[in-house]
Amino acid sequence: MWKFVSNVWRFFSRLSSEMSHVCPVHCEPFKRESVPVRYGLIRYSDEYIAAKYAGFPWSASSVNGGCVVSPDSPTDRYVEYCEQCRANEAMWHEEHPSSTFKFE
Ligand SMILES: [Zn+2]
Repeated sequence: MWKFVSNVWRFFSRLSSEMSHVCPVHCEPFKRESVPVRYGLIRYSDEYIAAKYAGFPWSASSVNGGCVVSPDSPTDRYVEYCEQCRANEAMWHEEHPSSTFKFE
């Protein structure tokens, strides 16, 4: 019995590890690259947020660095991203050219 539990545990541990490097929406393995870090108060439109969660949650085309910037703040950072999410995000930007940010 203990050996069975151990094997099941090992199976799910390995599956979990492998799945963490796969886009949960598109089931594509993540790629890794450096992207720009954006600083300041960045507010996305509700339309963009809804589209991102539904169609491109792992596009990771940039990183939000927050509002505090110092001389040694990084200008870019490595991220994991999904190619299909990137493609979906690019298509969304083409169809909604000025809808990404919220201006109030
Ligand atoms: Zn994806």
